[in-house]
Amino acid sequence: MGECRWCYQVMEDWDRDFPPMTALRPAIFLDRDGTLNKAIVREGKPYPPSTPEEFVLLPGVLEGCARLKQAGFLLVVATNQPDVGRGTQKQEIVEAIHARMLKQLSIDRIEVCYHAGRGEPCDCRKPAPGMLMRAAEALAINLSKSWMIGDRWRDIDCGQAAGCRTIFIDQGYDEKLRAIPDFTACDFLQATAIVLNNSPRSHPP
Ligand SMILES: [Mg+2]
Repeated sequence: MGECRWCYQVMEDWDRDFPPMTALRPAIFLDRDGTLNKAIVREGKPYPPSTPEEFVLLPGVLEGCARLKQAGFLLVVATNQPDVGRGTQKQEIVEAIHARMLKQLSIDRIEVCYHAGRGEPCDCRKPAPGMLMRAAEALAINLSKSWMIGDRWRDIDCGQAAGCRTIFIDQGYDEKLRAIPDFTACDFLQATAIVLNNSPRSHPP
């Protein structure tokens, strides 16, 4: 770039300050309990595992995550853990559960909302889209090419609020959806197939 060093420098600065839209990557935002791992279901309602030992991946999750990763998607877990804010669970235990999850799955980022969801408003507790927006900024994610997969109404509303497409995994809880998801799946592998069948063939790794 010898004879036009100045222009080259300007272009470099431009690229650094304003990454082109094509540089933004698509992501799969993943709810945790009941989507990746077995939820503890009591009276039709799902609850999180309370110890790392209770954290057990659901069938097809290992394979599904590998396929999504191979297709060029970033994998971002976004999970509400209000028991920490309510004082009925320790943050260290949730972190130990996440350490176990990271040993099993190639997750690029974990976003956690610890707020109790009672009284103190926050921008991160799903259905608010704060966790997705934060990850999008940190990892340069293209939200409109991204998906949110979850097993509850909060996940679907959150994905829609962030401008993502949504897949509801129906685990048969005694709970109704609020917004209508783009797709409904019976398990994680079916959700994976929906993403892959409705996305461009490949994304740059
Ligand atoms: Mg869930």
